Parts: sequence; C-alpha cells; structure tokens
Amino acid sequence: MSITPLMPVYPRCGVRPVRGEHCHLIDEDGTRYLDFASGIAVNLLGHSHEGLIGAIQKQAAELMHVSNMYGSPQGEVLAQRLVDHTFADTVFFSNSGAEAVETAIKCARVYHQHEGNTQRSELITFTNAFHGRTMATISASNQTKMHHGFAPLLDGFKYCEFDDLEAAKALITDKTAGFLVEPIQGEGGIRPASQEFMSGLRALADEHDLMLVLDEVQCGMARTGKMFAHEHYGVNPDILASAKGIGGGFPLGACLATEKAARGMVFGTHGSTYGGNPLAMAAGNAVLDAVANEAFLASVSAKGETIRTRLEQFFGNYPDLFELVRGKGLMLGIKMKVESRPFFVHLRDNHQLMMVAAGDNTLRVLPPLVIGDAEIDEFFEKLSAGAASYTVPEAA
Ligand SMILES: *Cc1c(COP(=O)(O)O)cnc(C)c1O
Repeated sequence: MSITPLMPVYPRCGVRPVRGEHCHLIDEDGTRYLDFASGIAVNLLGHSHEGLIGAIQKQAAELMHVSNMYGSPQGEVLAQRLVDHTFADTVFFSNSGAEAVETAIKCARVYHQHEGNTQRSELITFTNAFHGRTMATISASNQTKMHHGFAPLLDGFKYCEFDDLEAAKALITDKTAGFLVEPIQGEGGIRPASQEFMSGLRALADEHDLMLVLDEVQCGMARTGKMFAHEHYGVNPDILASAKGIGGGFPLGACLATEKAARGMVFGTHGSTYGGNPLAMAAGNAVLDAVANEAFLASVSAKGETIRTRLEQFFGNYPDLFELVRGKGLMLGIKMKVESRPFFVHLRDNHQLMMVAAGDNTLRVLPPLVIGDAEIDEFFEKLSAGAASYTVPEAA
C-alpha cells in the first residue's frame, strides 16, 4: 500500500502546526511562524481569541447539534444580525464556501424557474474565478486544471473575461439567469473588479431581471474593512455567498439573499443536516460580536493602508522582484515580477513567515484582522530579510 491515509490531493509542506497563539502558528518541533495566511482568510480573530473560544466551549457543553426540523433560537439570532448588517432579507447556513455558492446558484436558477421561466438557467461567470471544488462550483470556473478528469461538467455556465463589461453584456441571452462574480478575486491573484464593471453588472441585472450573485467567500466578513466588499462599490447584490472568515475557523458558510431573489426557495427546495447547527451559530455570533462595528472595520482599513504604504516604499529596494500591491483592507496581493510560489516557500522555510501564493504571480497578504503594530513590524522584518536572502531560481 503506498497511498497515504490522508487522501493525497494536497501537496502538503513540511510545516506541521499543532498550536496557535494569537497571530503565530507553532509547529510540532516548536518553530514559531508569523501567520499572514490565516488558514486562507479564515482565522480573522487569530488563533486564541477568548470570545470565540469561550462561545464555542459554552455552546458545545449546552447543545452541539440538532436537526433543522426543530426551531433554531441560535440560528434566528445570527440570521437576524446578518440581515441587519447587510443588503439581505434572509440567510441559509451551510458548512463551507462551496456549499454557500451552490446554494446561491440554486437560488438564482429557482428564482426564474419559480416564475415559469424554465429556460433561464445560465449564469455568466468570469475568467480565473474560484468558487470551490464541488461539481457545480468547478463547472462555474473556466480554470481547466480543476476540471481535468472530472467530466462531464455541469451545464449552465458561460465564461466571460473578468472585468470586461461589454463582453458580459454581449453574452446575455434569453437563457441567462444572472452573473456570478467575486468582487475581488482571491485565488485569481487579489484582483479587484473596477467600479464601472460592478456598477455595470448591477445595471444590466436590473435591465434584464437577472440575479447579481456575488461570491464573497474570501473577500467578505470585514476582510476589506467593510462587512462585505461590494459596499466599497455602492452596489448591492441579489444573492451573496459567504464563508471562510464568517466562522473565524469554525466551518460555516452562508447564502444571503433579498426577499425577491429567494422567492423560489420554499419548503423542501433545499437543506443541510449540519448547516446552521447551534455550535456553528455560536461561532458566527462570536465573530460578529468582534467585527461588526465601525471601530473594528475602521481599524482593518487603517492597518491595510499602513501595510500598503510600507510595501510600496519597500518595493523600491527590490525593483526586480516586486511590481505592485493591490486589493483592499487586509486582503492585499503583492504582484511579483518573478514567480511568486518559490518566494513564498522561501519566506516560509527560511524566515518563518506564512503567506499564500495565488494566480498571476501574486503573493497574498491575509493576516488575522486583529494584528497590531508588533505583528506588522515583524512582517516587514521577515519580508525584508527574505527579499535580501533570495536568489531567483533558474528557469527550468
Ligand atoms: C475558498 C473559496 C471558495 C470555496 O470555499 P470552501 O470552504 O473551500 O468550499 C469559494 N469561493 C471563493 C471566492 C473562495 O475563496
């Protein structure tokens, strides 16, 4: 037998974390890493947040799981709070980002089919998008590396160049149900959509009665200094998928929708055994307690600006390595002039700095939102040392 007990779908690195302390990870052998990856934009309160830990411990002792056949006092509270803080009128809870996007896709389709418009089932999606790893969510992305070996894909997705409004407009037919888009692409390389694109999609959706579905699994939940990234654009969606940061590390996803968009989501149309269980709701409520206030959101924006300004100054020392920084709040991408993945490995293995590589030779800066000046200083010390000691590998 040569297959590993953990199905070998991840090229796992040698770092084996066993403990978290605020913004650091501690490896099996005691090595400390500065965590500017946050489990890929998940641990927004860091690793030892008392409010989050306490809420989970308390709820685990009271009631961990019951069926969605019963009333949910815990879920009602979190759903009401999300409704109060967003465009949405209603929320469906799931356990992951892909499930939240799946729910969003179903919601957009059933909106039209409920009205008898059964032909309106296609979503226009965008190049280099990432929406998850289920059959529907890989089908929604044009990234063929995720498709390989998994044919047949699901029908009903048309790929369009990201940030190209005219191309999106040209793809609208009498089969179109809506648009599915990340306002700031995460895996694609921290690429924010332009204002014209976001406003334009909203206008097209209004004109043709299409659903504007936003995937804010990575860019949502306070990460960019707003509760959700679409607020930067002054553009409201009809449907939105959230996950990653929303549970602060506890598995939780949510599909948010307006009353109009959710009108086909009636009894029996959708469900989940674990979705919205009391333990997940406790985690979600504890995260909202910490992040859903103006002072916290303003602090995220301010820390993001500090890092961005310091990065731009720092790039001047290494004009051959770094090109630019983009993104919003604490969702920043360093676009490199060389391959970003080997540099990310170098930072991790030789300077104990955790970041995440992404498409378009980008290095993602995704720290916990609770970092302070000390962590920002440590980040720049490690990044400077890493850049100084780096030799760009020979092209193969
Ligand atoms: C991570 C991610 C997903 C998938 O989330 P999972 O929890 O891994 O299923 C979907 N969309 C975006 C934008 C993501 O970043």
